[in-house]
Amino acid sequence: MRVHVISDLEGVSGVVKGGQTHGGEPMFDEARKLYTEEINAAVRGAKAAGATEIVVMDCHGAGKEWSFNSLVPDLLDPDCEFVVQEDWTEYTAFLEEGCDAALLVGMHAKAGSRFGVMNHTVSGKDYFDLRFNGTSVGETGIHAALCGTWDCPVLLVTGDDVACAEGRELLGNSLTTVAVKTGLGSTSARQIPPLRARQMIEDGAKQALSDVTAVAPWDPGSPCEIVVEFKHTLAADRLRFRPGVERVDDRTISVTADTWWEAWKAFYF
Ligand SMILES: [Zn+2]
Repeated sequence: MRVHVISDLEGVSGVVKGGQTHGGEPMFDEARKLYTEEINAAVRGAKAAGATEIVVMDCHGAGKEWSFNSLVPDLLDPDCEFVVQEDWTEYTAFLEEGCDAALLVGMHAKAGSRFGVMNHTVSGKDYFDLRFNGTSVGETGIHAALCGTWDCPVLLVTGDDVACAEGRELLGNSLTTVAVKTGLGSTSARQIPPLRARQMIEDGAKQALSDVTAVAPWDPGSPCEIVVEFKHTLAADRLRFRPGVERVDDRTISVTADTWWEAWKAFYF
């Protein structure tokens, strides 16, 4: 069984404040260790479920050299491999080769979720809302669509309770979720300590992988229209000469293509 662990930092137990997620800030070093140990927990669970190949893809844009490079390499479980990418959602090789399941670890809620810890979508500065064929999504939806492009289901979401609820709303109640904290606001949470959170993630990963058919791969539909409502006009201005990008209004762009992946590639990179 081949398992993709796709991860972010904001949804990790012990991580609540923005400064913990920015490379080079004083609390970042601790946060990346907490992050790496939650990944290891998912890897242990995947192994216990019979995974034979586990590839971890860090999707946290920490800034500078830490972007998509926030894991602490020599703390990682030796039984996984890990990818460092240049651009988010760029690495698709493992999915293209054929992947049985994806586990999303450390997720945060989408932009505008009041109780979601550090809630945002793609860019907290730029994105107000993101919609795939009319469905408002956050990063869980983006990863689900990316995995679904190559028929890979998302079976597990971990993070705060708001991110978990967002995952179930999108992918259904057969999705396994592990809430390691209860969001109280953008920079506050009631948390389960990391040692217990890791055990919960390990158990959740093992249980999620016990039935890889529990959740269907997610396809937003064909053709697929992606709408990005930005917080301001500049982000939309920057796409003004991009082929296929339509300006819907001052702050909103739209791209339509046969598939989600074609539409995503047309504006995102
Ligand atoms: Zn992140």
